[in-house]
Amino acid sequence: MTTHRCAACMRALVAGTDDTICPGCVARLCAVLAELPRQLPLLEELLYPSGGPAQRGSVGRAHSPLPVRLDILDLLGPGHVVPRQDVPGDQAEGVPIAPLLHGWARYVAQSYPRVHHDQHGTAHVTRGDAEPVSRRGTDVPSWCAWLLAYAPYVAMQDWAADMLEQLEQLLARIRAKTDGGPARTTRDAPCPVCTGFALASRDGQPVILCEACGTSLTEAEYAQHAAAVLPALTHLAVRLVLADRSEAGERRVPA
Ligand SMILES: [Zn+2]
Ligand SMILES: [Zn+2]
Repeated sequence: MTTHRCAACMRALVAGTDDTICPGCVARLCAVLAELPRQLPLLEELLYPSGGPAQRGSVGRAHSPLPVRLDILDLLGPGHVVPRQDVPGDQAEGVPIAPLLHGWARYVAQSYPRVHHDQHGTAHVTRGDAEPVSRRGTDVPSWCAWLLAYAPYVAMQDWAADMLEQLEQLLARIRAKTDGGPARTTRDAPCPVCTGFALASRDGQPVILCEACGTSLTEAEYAQHAAAVLPALTHLAVRLVLADRSEAGERRVPA
């Protein structure tokens, strides 16, 4: 029997699931969609560079300086709706936030099956002609909330890993400007896949990510894994420390 693996982090999926990505990667997707709206005010603060006092003796400029930072405008500004394949955009910083989110919402809406009944009561399933409708509005928080609501559906699609990758790249671009994201905490247990001590989580996000191999775990999966491996590791560490001490003690004994 072939083992199905998470299309994003390659961890084995539980048998019988229809999902193409693991629960940890679904949690990652939800965490990105929850963080994007929180990054917006930070980006907006950076949009207008603070006008410092005029410097004496400075050489004249051929053009007056732009009143906004173009790299930030590239992220916040309008742009083309982006289909699933990320076409190289004309924006220096890649596709802006809102068009990327709207592009994915459109992709979800058009692949989502819609059932309607004809006058004979026969059910017909159609796809392809729907535009996403968000009652909240058409801004970034609205599309994030809309996509969050469809996360269980997205998790079953063969393009779920593509969506996660594009949204994580977008968040990485934003964090590079805003200097951050939630505080990072390293976790004690080693990664269950690569055994490296590289598991870390971000404050308020329900996902633990291996920074060495990309494996994602939910909090519940991590708690179960840590309970299984940490007692033995702690025992081993204590033995190593005690052995080290007794060796140091022996060295102090005169010959
Ligand atoms: Zn995964
Ligand atoms: Zn790992």
